[in-house]
Amino acid sequence: MKVLSEAQAQTEASETLDPKNWDDIRALGHRMLDDMIDYVANIRDRPVWQPIPDEVRARFRVALPHRPSDLRDVYREFSEFVIPYATGNVHPGFMGWVHGGGTAVGMLAEMLAAGLNANLGGRDHIPIEVERQIVEWMRQIFGFPQGASGIFVTGTSMANLIAVLVARTTALGTSVRRRGVSEDGALLTAYTSTAAHGCISKAMDIAGFGSDALRCIEVDRCHRIELAALRERIALDRGAGRKPFLVVGSAGTVDIGAIDDLHAMSELCRQEKLWFHVDGAFGALGILAPALKSRLAGIENADSIALDFHKWGQVPYDAGLLLVRDGDRHRDTFAAPAAYLRRESRGLAANSPWPCDLGPELSRGFRALKTWFTLKTYGTEKLGAVITRSCALAGYLQARILAEPRLELMAPVQLNIVCFRYRAENANQLNGEIVLDIQESGIAAPSTTLLDGQLAIRAAIVNHRTDFSDIDALLSAVLEFGSRRSSDHRLVLQLEQSPPLAM
Ligand SMILES: *Cc1c(COP(=O)(O)O)cnc(C)c1O
Repeated sequence: MKVLSEAQAQTEASETLDPKNWDDIRALGHRMLDDMIDYVANIRDRPVWQPIPDEVRARFRVALPHRPSDLRDVYREFSEFVIPYATGNVHPGFMGWVHGGGTAVGMLAEMLAAGLNANLGGRDHIPIEVERQIVEWMRQIFGFPQGASGIFVTGTSMANLIAVLVARTTALGTSVRRRGVSEDGALLTAYTSTAAHGCISKAMDIAGFGSDALRCIEVDRCHRIELAALRERIALDRGAGRKPFLVVGSAGTVDIGAIDDLHAMSELCRQEKLWFHVDGAFGALGILAPALKSRLAGIENADSIALDFHKWGQVPYDAGLLLVRDGDRHRDTFAAPAAYLRRESRGLAANSPWPCDLGPELSRGFRALKTWFTLKTYGTEKLGAVITRSCALAGYLQARILAEPRLELMAPVQLNIVCFRYRAENANQLNGEIVLDIQESGIAAPSTTLLDGQLAIRAAIVNHRTDFSDIDALLSAVLEFGSRRSSDHRLVLQLEQSPPLAM
């Protein structure tokens, strides 16, 4: 008979991951909560972002721990070496790319979701109903019919990919799921504008069509798709024996915030019998702002809409959503029988269809909860007011740029994104450096984009904490670093032009 030593017996008896003493973890948990609430409340006291010292980075390249450590020590490491080196999008000075600011409400909901540890792949539990509730609310907001379906995903990149797949199954029939996109599938072509997000081209690649099967149609000076050119290209492709199947419109382009003429696009798609998908990553929620609602007219005619709650919706990362007008098409694309996923009419395996019938994932977290908390706590009017204000701030930034001779506006401001630059001879290089200088200073965090080969400083106002003073700080920083850099530059030129020193 095998006899366990006392030590062995003790270890085996405690082979659970629960703490021996719940009061210890409770006390530490309360402290973490206080610390994170302080972090969010006092975010202005911190730099927006700061460069990561080599020794800090090196701390995250160590060996896998085999032995336990005290949670306090792990938390201390988090506090000292993770918190200070985050992206900075919680900070009101963050205007780079298109990032949401998050809220304390969303943070708390995320903690509750983790405690519940719900798996939203399927089965009969209320977390699924919470997700369906959000889908239903979005269905109503976007004017989709009963029978529409939707699913939470990481973000719009994934939502766009799923939309391409649903459009594909609609075009080719469900047999494509067995046969792949060979033969007929190889002839399919999709359409979007040159200003559309790169993830659409990636979705075409991943879906097996190849990114060449996506035709990128020219845009007008406001970066809206040229409808005549779109119509022409579709006709040209049809003439050449190709099979157009999908048009993707943008509700808020990522570069300058343009909204395509969604109404006209939906009409064109109806006439041409094409799937009309709208990438509304950040812009679709503009529907909550009374002033923007009419700009999105036509979105209600889309076959599918992708949007992110983690951008203008201020829900903490990540929370994307795909909405599909015809739920049957959506299910036809993903539902698959499996003995171990058998549905019942009662018990825990009831409540079909499950979210796993609407996308590629089986295990899924409870993203819907933080979104539910956000929508309920603030209400759509307040969230809409935050969106309206982002646009007002962008308007203020635009007005200040137009009033400042040293600055140049690079694109019409249509929503919440402002592209501009410091005037100079070597403007591309100089403005690139200005942006890096500002990021490293911790004052603000703009990003850059290229518009017709010209590098622009891009300020996307998404964070609900951003205020007029943050816009002023950004502008002062651009002018300050711009003048410093250009005098450095003049100095370099002078040195280059002066005669070589006598040897
Ligand atoms: C952010 C964005 C995406 C990508 O969405 P993720 O949530 O980052 O995956 C796609 N399209 C547009 C217009 C975006 O702004």
